[in-house]
Amino acid sequence: MKAILVRQFGGPEVLELENVPTPQPAGGQVLVRVHAAGVNPYDTYMRTGTYAIKPPLPYTPGSDAAGVVEAVGESVGAVKPGDRVYTANTLTGCYAEYTLAVESQVHALPVKVSFAQGAGVWVPYGTAYQALHHSAEARASETVLVHGASGAVGLASVQIARAMGLTVFGTAGTPEGLDLVKREGAHAAFDHRKAGYQESLLRATGGRGLDIILEMLANVNLATDLKLLAPRGRVIVIGNRGEITINPRDLMTRTASIRAFTLWGVDAAEEAAIHAGVIAGLENGTLRPVVGKQMPLAEAARAHKEILEPGAFGKIVLIP
Ligand code: NAP
Repeated sequence: MKAILVRQFGGPEVLELENVPTPQPAGGQVLVRVHAAGVNPYDTYMRTGTYAIKPPLPYTPGSDAAGVVEAVGESVGAVKPGDRVYTANTLTGCYAEYTLAVESQVHALPVKVSFAQGAGVWVPYGTAYQALHHSAEARASETVLVHGASGAVGLASVQIARAMGLTVFGTAGTPEGLDLVKREGAHAAFDHRKAGYQESLLRATGGRGLDIILEMLANVNLATDLKLLAPRGRVIVIGNRGEITINPRDLMTRTASIRAFTLWGVDAAEEAAIHAGVIAGLENGTLRPVVGKQMPLAEAARAHKEILEPGAFGKIVLIP
């Protein structure tokens, strides 16, 4: 089969398309024919060799695939050949024509969700679900700011929060991104490149501030976020690319808190709730992954460059 291999850590150019043996499922394992593979920002951090998870070389990147079960090993009962599925991590990586996973990493893909959309389910929706339900403990009628709403996690957060009954504000950095954020359910959208947008946001809450902020770029925004919080507000740190100085007094005066997590750290009960909740939303149409760009698998290096550029518009997906 064809697969992207990383033989040494480095820039996007280390992503090479190669011919490798197609894996075969052992007991408890599932072989999936990949129809689409999702590209996530952490795939790029891992490729540089500086991320908390450093895989042994060579490796094939990618945790999010959607496709069809090709074969199953002994004792697999949850899926069978021909089933449409999405993956939440795999054993052999998703930037490939086939990927091998353990049974618990493979989940049913509802019929109304395309394969390209299915490649944007696990990391984006899993993160958004964990942030709103488990970390923020969001309640209907609260206000939420999705700070960085035009990307994959942001749009998933907007859709989930809207379906939960929150008042949803989102930010983006381009006119197309702002339109998309509103179309996907935000009550109002603000341009995070425009000076003074934080004052407009505060006015939109009637001066009360936000109950919840989901933060995609904490190293830039965290200090200001704390000043935008309502009493007992919570900032949930989802994305961060550096250091920042904050004034803890901004938390004290509001009885506010900063919470943070990585999707890799969720426990089994949380993960079960994420899949059940997300699959229900995909089935009833409240959750609709937005595919911004589809590229051939061979262009993985270009995908890794573009995902870090401004102007996010949903998910970038590779097609083997
Ligand atoms: P993405 O699709 O590339 O989206 C990035 C988002 O950040 C876009 O909405 C972008 O908006 C926005 N952004 C850019 N500059 C900003 C600023 N100054 N203030 C606020 N937002 C800004 O990435 P993603 O997949 O949604 O992931 C978002 C972040 O969360 C990444 O850093 C990723 O590594 C992290 N993440 C963490 C976890 C976890 O487990 N904690 C899981 C998944 C993702 P424009 O392009 O429109 O400017």
